[in-house]
Amino acid sequence: MKITAIDTFTLRVPTAKPIALDLPEHRLVVTRIHTDAGSEGLGYSLVFGGSGSEAVEAYARRLAELLISEDPLLVGRLWDKMYRADRGIRRVGIAGYALSALDIGLWDLAGKAANLPLAKLWGATTDRVDAYGSGGWGSYSLDDLIGEAKKYAAAGCHYYKMKVHDPDPRVNRQRVEAVRKALGDGVRMMVDVNQKLDVQSSIRQAQLLEDLDLVWYEEPALADDLAACAEVARAIRIPVATGENNYTRFEFRELIERRAARYLMPDVCRANGYTETMRIGQLAAAHQVALSPHVVHELSLHVAAALPNSFLVEWIDWVPADLFEGMPKCEAGAFRITDRPGHGIALTADAEKKYKMA
Ligand SMILES: [Mg+2]
Repeated sequence: MKITAIDTFTLRVPTAKPIALDLPEHRLVVTRIHTDAGSEGLGYSLVFGGSGSEAVEAYARRLAELLISEDPLLVGRLWDKMYRADRGIRRVGIAGYALSALDIGLWDLAGKAANLPLAKLWGATTDRVDAYGSGGWGSYSLDDLIGEAKKYAAAGCHYYKMKVHDPDPRVNRQRVEAVRKALGDGVRMMVDVNQKLDVQSSIRQAQLLEDLDLVWYEEPALADDLAACAEVARAIRIPVATGENNYTRFEFRELIERRAARYLMPDVCRANGYTETMRIGQLAAAHQVALSPHVVHELSLHVAAALPNSFLVEWIDWVPADLFEGMPKCEAGAFRITDRPGHGIALTADAEKKYKMA
């Protein structure tokens, strides 16, 4: 099999309230890989909030040129070719997103060639992965917040994650307590700092939350500063989660060595695709650290189902019904691996017409 062409384009997809209060749209940088055998692979990177998608698309086009005429089933070789192509550009940030979109498309082709969903191609440990409801942005009113939390609980989720974005840590404590009270004992909670605090402020915020039995305290410091994350982790009694803005197995190795987190959260659309995310997951398994992949649950579900050390996928219920075919449905708080080969996701016939950017 040979790759004959790759289409690269961006979809701009509006969100609905309450998510739209904080993030009015998301963008998907899409790569569609065509082959001489007639099969197609779909890859995409979710650019959360949309900013920077033009740069991701431009670099994905550059990497796509390297794949023309190659055998798509040599996924690891092509990953290496892309990863090592431009030594003056590190494979983090924009470049990580771009490589991810192509790697995900290559794995989609590999799954289709084997007629297996990726989780089973990788030796699945389960065919059902529990999800946590995620959202709770700072711009939500208390009613928005509790309404969203209860919606996920009604879908069967036993975990809900919200942001702690108010500049006053006592306000964040009050909001977490209010949601916890509204949800009752059947749902446990996590909170997300999203890198907004310095080390001292982050430690103070965590200490104000320590008696609330939180599962984790997420992205406590700037993601570039692994030492700062480790410093917070040493100082607080809530387990730390981080990794959605880390990109390679080398960065994750350092997080592990520094004991900076008990939960690692690579994003398959950022961390150089499925290829690197699976390596990060195996590395975490060797250190008894849990893997809880970041967003895009429709894609990361396969990673979580394949690995022995995964804990939950993150479910942000934002995707409009007319964007994807094959979107997994939440059943009693969990997502099942279906028999659809590859990652199982396709764009609907109308998605391009409706959402494609000029
Ligand atoms: Mg997060």
